[in-house]
Amino acid sequence: MTLRNGKEFLMIPGPTNVPDEVLRAMHRPAVDIYEGPLVETTEVCLQGLKTLFRTSGTPYIYAANGHGAWDAALTNTLSRGDKVLVLESGRFALGWGEAACISGLEMEVFPGDWRKPVDVAALEEHLRADKGHSIKAILVVQVDTASGALNDISGIRRAMDAAWHPALLMVDTIASLGCVPFEMDAWGVDIALTGSQKGLMTPPGLSFVAAGPRAIEAHKTADMRVNYFDWTFRNGPEHYQKYCGTPPEHLLFGFREALRMIEAEGLDAVWQRHRLLAEATRRAVAVWGGKGALEMNILDPASRSDSVSVIRFNDADPAPVRAFARETCGVTVGGTIGELAGKGLRIGHMGHVNAVMLLGTLSSLELGLLQSRVACDRGGVQAAIDYLNDALTPV
Ligand SMILES: *Cc1c(COP(=O)(O)O)cnc(C)c1O
Repeated sequence: MTLRNGKEFLMIPGPTNVPDEVLRAMHRPAVDIYEGPLVETTEVCLQGLKTLFRTSGTPYIYAANGHGAWDAALTNTLSRGDKVLVLESGRFALGWGEAACISGLEMEVFPGDWRKPVDVAALEEHLRADKGHSIKAILVVQVDTASGALNDISGIRRAMDAAWHPALLMVDTIASLGCVPFEMDAWGVDIALTGSQKGLMTPPGLSFVAAGPRAIEAHKTADMRVNYFDWTFRNGPEHYQKYCGTPPEHLLFGFREALRMIEAEGLDAVWQRHRLLAEATRRAVAVWGGKGALEMNILDPASRSDSVSVIRFNDADPAPVRAFARETCGVTVGGTIGELAGKGLRIGHMGHVNAVMLLGTLSSLELGLLQSRVACDRGGVQAAIDYLNDALTPV
């Protein structure tokens, strides 16, 4: 028996739903790469990135996924043997640090707990102890997509300043830009990077790096530069240099449309939508977990991401719930990865997501919990609706 016929929902933390408007913007013939609409599209995309990152720094566009942006940030600013400090709050900053090691950097891990964001006070102490300033860069993710943690980026900058530490602050916003507030300049971030396929509603294949003044200064002496990622080459006068070759035209047309959609909704409204849908999800999980079978992975409510909810199953098996949602209801939610592999579910509610998709997903999961005989309380969906009802009612 299946109830699956109808539009399939993809509710994983990336890649995410691509709006029909973005797909349509991509459905066009290739164009000249030396003049005409593509050159103007580049200008619009670069300006749009500055607006999204909230920076007056310099944005770069790569035909690469997020891993490519990681390499771009490192190779443009650091030198072989430099030490990077990786702030652990799940899986993704560690992956970035492992990439750094392959390029010839040295990695130190500032260990964290998968149930908590980075401990800012402990970080300050750690940086004070690095008296010789052997740490050249700090690598951190704003949202860790494996744990669901939201890190306090401005707090991390304050800890660095309090310790008088000169390292570059590099922030991965792949699972957070266009979902939750991010302020590159106001928070003192030296390099911010992101990808096209999560909050930015564009197919995978583009990534973006923004360089602030201290990163641009560091670039002058970096000895790990490689042709494809190199900022100096990309700053050159020819349009093709911005892409180090043929631009990824169709992805750019799609991204331009996604930027237009974000601007039309308004960035504040986009953040607000993510906040409401995420909190509705958390209200449902709180009810389902009334008997202790499941709970939000991140312990402190203020440190839970609005772009992805990571749900930890304590005694029950999440696999049949996820399979039921997919096979019988037509909605795919994510499994957990890394240390949490097999122990939970991840609901991606980022980018092109509305209340229908979220409430439909929560309903399918509640049905799946009942069908899988997980010892949960009923009424999670009702709690989500009650929350939204309050949030949407003017006081
Ligand atoms: C998805 C994700 C990545 C990896 O991006 P790719 O495009 O798969 O390389 C890196 N960091 C975070 C926080 C992510 O969510």
